[in-house]
Amino acid sequence: MPLLPTSAPSPISNVVVLGATGSIGRSTLDVVAHDQGKRLKVWGLAANSGWQQLIEQAREFRPRYITLADPDAAAQVDGQLRGTGVELLSGPDAVEQMVSAPEVERVLSAVVGAAGLRGTWAALEAGKIVALANKETLVVAGPLVMDLARRRGATILPVDSEHSAIYQALKAGQPREVKRVILTSSGGPFRGKTTRDLCEVSPEQALKHPTWKMGKKISIDSATLMNKALEVIEARWLFGLEPEQIEVVVHPESIVHSMVEFVDGSVIAQLSPPDMRLPIQYALYYPDRVEGPCDKLDLTKPHTLHFEPPDVETFPCLELGFEVMRRGGTAGAALNAANEVAVERFLAGEIRFLDIPRACRAVLEHHTFDSRPTLDALWRVDAWARQELFRWNS
Ligand code: NDP
Ligand code: MG
Repeated sequence: MPLLPTSAPSPISNVVVLGATGSIGRSTLDVVAHDQGKRLKVWGLAANSGWQQLIEQAREFRPRYITLADPDAAAQVDGQLRGTGVELLSGPDAVEQMVSAPEVERVLSAVVGAAGLRGTWAALEAGKIVALANKETLVVAGPLVMDLARRRGATILPVDSEHSAIYQALKAGQPREVKRVILTSSGGPFRGKTTRDLCEVSPEQALKHPTWKMGKKISIDSATLMNKALEVIEARWLFGLEPEQIEVVVHPESIVHSMVEFVDGSVIAQLSPPDMRLPIQYALYYPDRVEGPCDKLDLTKPHTLHFEPPDVETFPCLELGFEVMRRGGTAGAALNAANEVAVERFLAGEIRFLDIPRACRAVLEHHTFDSRPTLDALWRVDAWARQELFRWNS
């Protein structure tokens, strides 16, 4: 019998997980645990203030470094790592230091909000492969981030399930052959409701997502459809698309994660049960595919897949996203910062669910637009928009 060709064993990839204690961070560590040290090794873990959980993760995965953005939380770690070989990096440059180490191959960027931009930026500047869950990075600074990646020879691999699906589907043709991309949306917990139904929605109701288990901020974004708005902007910069090439369709089963239509009318989709560990795994092993911990789709059992247009009247955030995607410049930074604070205030019971799009629109309309901002200018818009939204009253 002829010998089958054997491929050389792949080297170990050292991975840094930014936002390790969150929903995506924990799913990432689950993928790494499943790997059993064959291909993936945790080099660094970063969180904000959740030091107890970070220490537990450090004891299990034995990274070289951990870091906490909150100095009070970092102060609690003293002595807890003795005998583990894990070191706490502190100070304002800790994340930069961790992600730019020559030993690091991949950085999984899963901090929530614009706060994730700094670590992502440092990883790209260091020329790393960035598995990007933090969509806000591209919403705030898409053109600058993509330009940085090009200049530094860095790679961005999307982790957001829709963008991972599009990334995979795009391999079926040439960039010039792409007619449009179709992002799917579950429709969130309030699909089918009217504006009237949504007047008195509580944070608890809005946090209950029908198909995905996620952090609080993205759960509220999914209920308002702001998440899809942010994803439309993310898609534009990530794939270099024209605004009219991006569409959204509601698909409540969350099985088809997105689609690409080519000029010949062929539509290529990626399907799987909803589990973020799959796009995370795809980005951690790319360009290889491996067996992983996720359930497989069994289409021998009855399945029905629905598709319907989004209800843009009940969910005005989606239109805001399309507007901002078309405008570019500082609009993404203004919308994102306004939304972050609006979500915080909604969760704190200070504003109502329907105030989120209203407040975001008000801030967006008042901001001083700049079509070609620098990174510093974007941070100034971010700070201004936060202040405005803290002051906003219905
Ligand atoms: P979580 O709220 O569950 O986790 C957020 C993580 O970020 C935590 O580790 C938190 O640390 C850390 N963090 C928060 N603020 C800071 C800060 N200022 N500096 C450093 N670290 C910080 O969020 P998710 O995991 O749900 O989402 C993470 C990102 O991934 C978001 O951008 C989201 O849009 C995106 N995403 C998430 C999906 C999901 O299924 N959850 C799907 C697709 C995209 P600590 O625990 O210490 O507070
Ligand atoms: Mg998504």
